[in-house]
Amino acid sequence: MPRLFSAIEVPGDIAERLAGLRGGIDGARWVDPDNYHITLRFIGDVDGTTAERFSEALAKVACAPFSLTLDGLGSFGRGRPRAVWAGVAPSTPLVSLNRDHEKAATRAGLAAETRNFHPHVTLARMKRVKARDVATYLSHNGAFLTGAFPVTRFVLYSSRASKGGGPYVVERAYPLDGA
Ligand code: ATP
Ligand code: MG
Repeated sequence: MPRLFSAIEVPGDIAERLAGLRGGIDGARWVDPDNYHITLRFIGDVDGTTAERFSEALAKVACAPFSLTLDGLGSFGRGRPRAVWAGVAPSTPLVSLNRDHEKAATRAGLAAETRNFHPHVTLARMKRVKARDVATYLSHNGAFLTGAFPVTRFVLYSSRASKGGGPYVVERAYPLDGA
């Protein structure tokens, strides 16, 4: 069963800047810059029919190109950090695109996402690192800010079945040309 998620790719120049943030937390696993992305909708391991339905529903999403800015770093998992990420500056078109991906997931027969949408680029994953080390890292690097970059397509990625993780494979790309 494929493990799928939809996402926005990170342009090479932005990925290069993010790559400069790698290192500095003992025990963290830093994401390969080729694998940086902004998840729109995590699907998980699904059968081929569901995968096909989601893929087709995404093709009906109409969205004009827009731009995004990465602003600030943060972490998930307060006392027990799980991930360090770069945040995405508030974007109305991005929220709208996420809603459309949620609708596509519903059309594919998937259960509704219950978590809030928190767009980000994961930079590192971690299990047993010191919360203090993450706090120190964020206090040194947290003022990260990029220029606006264009978003001209979104993609359906597959990751390693059941396990997750990269390298992610672009299964299908969807150019943004809608209204
Ligand atoms: P690993 O878990 O091995 O580090 P990964 O998290 O990159 O790998 P997946 O678990 O397949 O690989 O996840 C793909 C993308 O979807 C990642 O951006 C991940 O953060 C995100 N994701 C995973 N699970 C969820 C979830 N339950 N809700 C929202 N997003 C998720
Ligand atoms: Mg995962």
